[in-house]
Amino acid sequence: MNVTVIGLGYVGLTTAAALAELGHCVVGVDIDNVKIEKLNRGDVPVWEPELAPLIAKNRQAQRLAFTTDVHNAASQADVILVAVGTPAGPEGKPDLTQLERAVSDLTDCLPSDALLIIKSTVPVGTTDQIATRLQRDVVHNPEFLRQGSAVHDFFHPDRIVIGCESKWAAGRMCRLYQGITAPMIVCDRRSAEMIKYTANAFLAMKISYINMIADLCESLDANVEDVARGIGADHRIGHAFLQAGAGYGGSCFPKDTQALLYMGAQTGCSLPLVESADQINQLRPRRLVTKAERALGTLSGKRVALLGLTYKPQTDDVRSAPSIAVSRMLLEKGAEVHAYDPRARRFPVQQVAISPDVDTAVRDVDAVMILTEWDEFRHMDWKRLLPTLRCPVIIDGRNLYRLEEMRELGTTYPLHYLSVGRPEVN
Ligand code: NAD
Repeated sequence: MNVTVIGLGYVGLTTAAALAELGHCVVGVDIDNVKIEKLNRGDVPVWEPELAPLIAKNRQAQRLAFTTDVHNAASQADVILVAVGTPAGPEGKPDLTQLERAVSDLTDCLPSDALLIIKSTVPVGTTDQIATRLQRDVVHNPEFLRQGSAVHDFFHPDRIVIGCESKWAAGRMCRLYQGITAPMIVCDRRSAEMIKYTANAFLAMKISYINMIADLCESLDANVEDVARGIGADHRIGHAFLQAGAGYGGSCFPKDTQALLYMGAQTGCSLPLVESADQINQLRPRRLVTKAERALGTLSGKRVALLGLTYKPQTDDVRSAPSIAVSRMLLEKGAEVHAYDPRARRFPVQQVAISPDVDTAVRDVDAVMILTEWDEFRHMDWKRLLPTLRCPVIIDGRNLYRLEEMRELGTTYPLHYLSVGRPEVN
């Protein structure tokens, strides 16, 4: 089929390349000139494992092209997917400006027999409104891929959700995803929109739940890692998303929980579980900063190294990452902040000094704070690095190291190791 993908961020670009790999003829459209120029030069504007070779292969096979010309791309399409951003606006209300523009751009060039698919995460009722406006069936097909494994997730999804009103649309969706083995959940558009928010809020709740328990473990001298292992073994609970730490970030969980709360507020329906998950998460950065303050006495005039700025490993994305709130708080308290991340791009807190490597970042600092569980940090040689610190304080916001390992290290080197929900090593 001829497929047009509108909006080439993490989702749109991955979807475009993967659909081309499935054999479709795909044109990716973005309003960002610089992005399209880069793509047409063979560069990839975001870093996502496996994505660059997939794009290169399909461009070479002439199944994948990029343009800013939406009219030309859409007028020849059998299927048009919209994957533009839907960031949080004031009070958590999703900002649909990008979506409105994308739909407006399509109104006079949408072929009568083309299927329009909204892939962006949108408030319940949005796809219905677009369908009414365009007077045709429009599909809501939420995306569940994870940054860091987006390409893998596209080809191996747990399910494909199709919110639509007609058999015709459902049939075309099956053709679009032919080659992918996954249960198809066909439902109405509003439920499909609801599925996406409900899934993300549930995962956010799981993370906040274990973080809440981690705080209690610290007060009661228990180890949250053992607790998580113990409860995760129950298949009704499962091990996923039970790693206590600095809290969730990224472009989805924070904004999608807030959007759900906004929808609840609009309809007079309170969502206390989701509200608590959000509040617990917002307090995580402060908790880590307080640990640093307690270990050092004061943060004023102290030098702190942050290891990891992205909201999780295997991505270059720093949107709503805990590192942003942590570095702002440290700076407010008078600390000098240095940071290193293997992939992060455009860190928004200007006063943070970005170092080219770990060695430079941690040299002469009063504390090291680990905020992203990159493998590079997991395998670091602390025996070599510890003596280069001014003060041997490590605050491990991701529980990267085994306690026994740190206790062993502490027998040869002075060390104060603080992690999340586990006993301190001092
Ligand atoms: P993004 O912000 O990375 O990318 C959006 C892209 O759309 C940008 O390149 C922007 O230039 C482009 N764009 C904006 N308006 C446009 C227009 N009118 N025409 C053409 N292009 C336009 O977004 P993302 O992270 O890829 O997310 C896209 C959607 O998918 C969001 O609704 C998000 O909630 C949802 N989602 C994201 C993820 C994720 O992991 N990032 C996972 C599942 C769902």
